[in-house]
Amino acid sequence: MSAFTRKDGELFAENVPAADIAREVGTPCFVYSLAELRARFRDYDAGFEGADHLVCYSVKANSNIAVLRALANEGSGFDVVSGGELKRVIAAGGDPSKVVFSGVGKQEWEIADALDAGILMFNVESPAELETINRVALERGARAPVALRVNPDVDAKTHPYISTGLKTSKFGIPIERCLEDYARASEMKGLEVVGADCHIGSQLTSSEPLVEAAGRMAALLRRLDERGIRPRYIDMGGGLGIVYDDEAPPTADEYAAKLVGALEGLDVTILVEPGRSIVGNAGILLTSVLYHKGNNEKNFIVVDAAMNDLPRPSLYSAFHRIEAADDTRDTVVADVVGPVCETGDFLAKEREVPAVAPGGLLAVMSAGAYAFAMASNYNSRPRAAEVLVDGENFYTIRRRETLDDLIGPESIPDVLES
Ligand SMILES: *Cc1c(COP(=O)(O)O)cnc(C)c1O
Repeated sequence: MSAFTRKDGELFAENVPAADIAREVGTPCFVYSLAELRARFRDYDAGFEGADHLVCYSVKANSNIAVLRALANEGSGFDVVSGGELKRVIAAGGDPSKVVFSGVGKQEWEIADALDAGILMFNVESPAELETINRVALERGARAPVALRVNPDVDAKTHPYISTGLKTSKFGIPIERCLEDYARASEMKGLEVVGADCHIGSQLTSSEPLVEAAGRMAALLRRLDERGIRPRYIDMGGGLGIVYDDEAPPTADEYAAKLVGALEGLDVTILVEPGRSIVGNAGILLTSVLYHKGNNEKNFIVVDAAMNDLPRPSLYSAFHRIEAADDTRDTVVADVVGPVCETGDFLAKEREVPAVAPGGLLAVMSAGAYAFAMASNYNSRPRAAEVLVDGENFYTIRRRETLDDLIGPESIPDVLES
């Protein structure tokens, strides 16, 4: 991870000491590197150079509007999965004509908003959804650009919760029956068939399943062509993994070269929807040590960040490296846990971690993706602040929530007044 380095033992985010950010903004806080975000986007863009392509950053990985603006400034498109994410893209200054809309449960208001915004295409996940989009489009006198999300039945060999390309998953339309659905879609007056889409899973550490899926999609396009259906876009989804620990995923440009190879000879624009591989290693979570606690069996380091801030360890048993922000060299084998009242509330288990004393600062690495975006207010904990670093400067891009924010949307009905 190039953006987070050490100088004289001390952790820096670009050219800012992590400790300075924690002092000014407080903890827990997420810190993102603008340089890293840009570099990872440019890797993709450069990897597809020479082929018609559009990189649609997957908003669900990290949806802060400053992150979205940074990518929009690079020319990024966006993959959204809700009306809320579309709202964020537009608020960030993203170009709606570069937006694809994925997800199994699009609601009518979301479809209407996306049509009004003029998005690039809907990635449609079922025949029933085709009917709904057709109807909403006709009501508005519009034609909705659609791709069918095909389930290519490829095993992504990743965590079952983030594996989406098998027959048993809720996502997409089985590849063997999608010809029929393509034929129906092409006859609906409110639809224009413009694409074919798939997304087989996340945190893939080999390009093999992705290339296999591309091969199946290419075969599908040839069969569609025989029937006079000629999608202009082939959307291969996201999914490229990152290094959390000792993984060795392909780089974006290696992956891009393989995709271009697998899709050679097709007259299409290639879309990809990377999320994690753009933001994952562009972010860290800073957290202060509150207490050391031990018994004969175990050591615990209690910190001020918890599963509500970073749910991945609890949800997927995910690994995040944990480092000291200062030059602490001593280590201790401990569970790093938060204040939430759940045994599942941990950031690391039985791990050799820096023996940072109470009051000191730890950094949870690789926390740019599916971290703040999955945060909740569980245990009535205000959500953490988010900071963007650019060289020597840093900016709060989401203030820490206040206690008033927590109860703001709630009310007590008259019937309870005594
Ligand atoms: C989650 C998701 C992505 C992004 O996946 P990453 O693993 O973060 O690259 C892309 N497309 C769709 C449809 C998704 O659901």
